[in-house]
Amino acid sequence: MARMPPAVNREGVCAMRKQIDQVLEAVDVACRKVERRGEDVTLIAVSKTFDADAICPALEAGHRVFGENRVQESQGKWPELRAEFSDVELHLIGPLQSNKSADAVELFDVIHTVDREKIAKALAGEMKKQGKTPKLFVQVNTGEEPQKAGIAPKEAVAFVQRCRDEHGLEIEGLMCIPPADENPGPHFELLRKLADEADVNGLSMGMSGDYQVAVQFGATHVRVGSAIFGVRDYPA
Ligand SMILES: *Cc1c(COP(=O)(O)O)cnc(C)c1O
Repeated sequence: MARMPPAVNREGVCAMRKQIDQVLEAVDVACRKVERRGEDVTLIAVSKTFDADAICPALEAGHRVFGENRVQESQGKWPELRAEFSDVELHLIGPLQSNKSADAVELFDVIHTVDREKIAKALAGEMKKQGKTPKLFVQVNTGEEPQKAGIAPKEAVAFVQRCRDEHGLEIEGLMCIPPADENPGPHFELLRKLADEADVNGLSMGMSGDYQVAVQFGATHVRVGSAIFGVRDYPA
């Protein structure tokens, strides 16, 4: 007799579908205000700190685009989940060390945190070696916060150009995390202006607290964690 597949927690899946639909609905509302189309915004469900059991309902509910901020944590859960859901698209949204670039290129489809020469070079080398081409975003430290990753705004356009010219990297867009205690609007606006100057289309901006604002400023990718998975037990 065929073995029974593992039981799917129907209630959990329905609750998760509802959470995701609420966010998608809010994205649509924000889009309509500025005459954009909801399908032009990609919802990245940020599953950092949540284990495979917690992520499974989102996969069962049909969502496929996920974000993680640590390479090592992702290696512990995604290869297995991917074996079951092969069409997952995985985004790295956390800082990247160059000694982790081989693992990052192997595991992620999109990397949002290219922010310095050393990383650009390491990624270019790994991509060639592995014959893989994850999409790349350049992270910009729009608030110029010393503790935060990202390239300074005034260096961002030239850096994108160097990624192209010196490292042969195609850059999809820019990413930012505005300072926690500031109105995010001006930061989103700055990122959009820099993206125009750098001639890239992607704008990775907006989290649970401000993704609707980000959409109104042109976000193409919103990174939403707690509004989908609930409050994290411990900081990422
Ligand atoms: C954790 C994280 C998010 C999601 O944050 P929420 O407030 O839970 O939506 C988005 N972007 C980055 C870079 C993160 O580290």
